[in-house]
Amino acid sequence: MSRLLLMGPPGAGKGTQAVVVAAALGIPHISTGDIFRLNVKEGTPLGVEAQKYMDAGEYVPDSVTNAMVADRLEQSDCAAGFLLDGYPRTAAQVDELDAMLAPRGEAIDRVIELTVDVDEVVQRLLIRAQEQGRTDDTEEIIRRRQEVYVEQTAPLLEIYAARGLHAAVDGMGSVDDVTGRILAALGR
Ligand code: AMP
Repeated sequence: MSRLLLMGPPGAGKGTQAVVVAAALGIPHISTGDIFRLNVKEGTPLGVEAQKYMDAGEYVPDSVTNAMVADRLEQSDCAAGFLLDGYPRTAAQVDELDAMLAPRGEAIDRVIELTVDVDEVVQRLLIRAQEQGRTDDTEEIIRRRQEVYVEQTAPLLEIYAARGLHAAVDGMGSVDDVTGRILAALGR
């Protein structure tokens, strides 16, 4: 089981867990958010396009995101598996991901949902934004990101549940505890 998705609301700790879990399983960690941020930092055309949406707490258009993921999944290190973090986030991305994998005779094996107390997470994000002086991360944008997740991404969990792939993991607690729960849910 090594073609994995990690899902959960913004601030659930997906990024932190994805790095640790991917390393434990010896598969690449693919974060669309990280790839976008790298492009923003480097000022590439993709970054310039993506930043408009990211700054507003909205999703980058599917066409841009899907092409970027397709390109990444074709790289040789993904042949034996990968952990996707932050993708798919829309129903169209689910279809597109299926279409990327099907010709290779591949499919997603497991979808881990990190469940958290959203109010607590929003408070944590607000404190972090303040501490880091991230004035662009206003309460309004932080709440908008949560809304977009609920509207566009949370429904995807049902699609994967219907395929028998979904496992919910309690995302509250220490990093080590949560990692242990994820690995247990993956049968490790
Ligand atoms: P993340 O670090 O995963 O929270 O992503 C940061 C931002 O990048 C998101 O708020 C979106 O604007 C954008 N982004 C990341 N992944 C996707 C995706 N799969 N589809 C659309 N936008 C995305």
